[in-house]
Amino acid sequence: MNKQNYSGSCLCGNIKFLAKGKPQNPHTCSCKMCQCHSGALTVSWVEFPSASVEWIGEGGTPETYRSSDFSSRAFCSKCGSTIGAIDDDPVVALVLGCFDSVKGEEFIHTKHSYKGSCPKWWKIS
Ligand SMILES: [Zn+2]
Ligand SMILES: [Zn+2]
Repeated sequence: MNKQNYSGSCLCGNIKFLAKGKPQNPHTCSCKMCQCHSGALTVSWVEFPSASVEWIGEGGTPETYRSSDFSSRAFCSKCGSTIGAIDDDPVVALVLGCFDSVKGEEFIHTKHSYKGSCPKWWKIS
């Protein structure tokens, strides 16, 4: 059996997730929405089908903010940590900073979206 499980949490531990299967669409994004949501110039993302993500922390499902016509940004209501985005499509996107480990090569980003929103001095390989 080849079972992949990925765990992670917010800063305070109120929100915890368990994601199963292979992370999809590993990418970085520097759009203004990601920048404001996270406070970082660039955010690293992976996606999972929503059925593959369980919210196992005390706080249950993260708080959301409706950020576009197709998606809501997810965060912890206690500590404010950015968790990811919960799309209207059955997709949950999670930010790599919340994972307990992202050492695997499956997390290496394959594209950098909205690169132009970064200042020239900001380099993402
Ligand atoms: Zn928290
Ligand atoms: Zn973005």
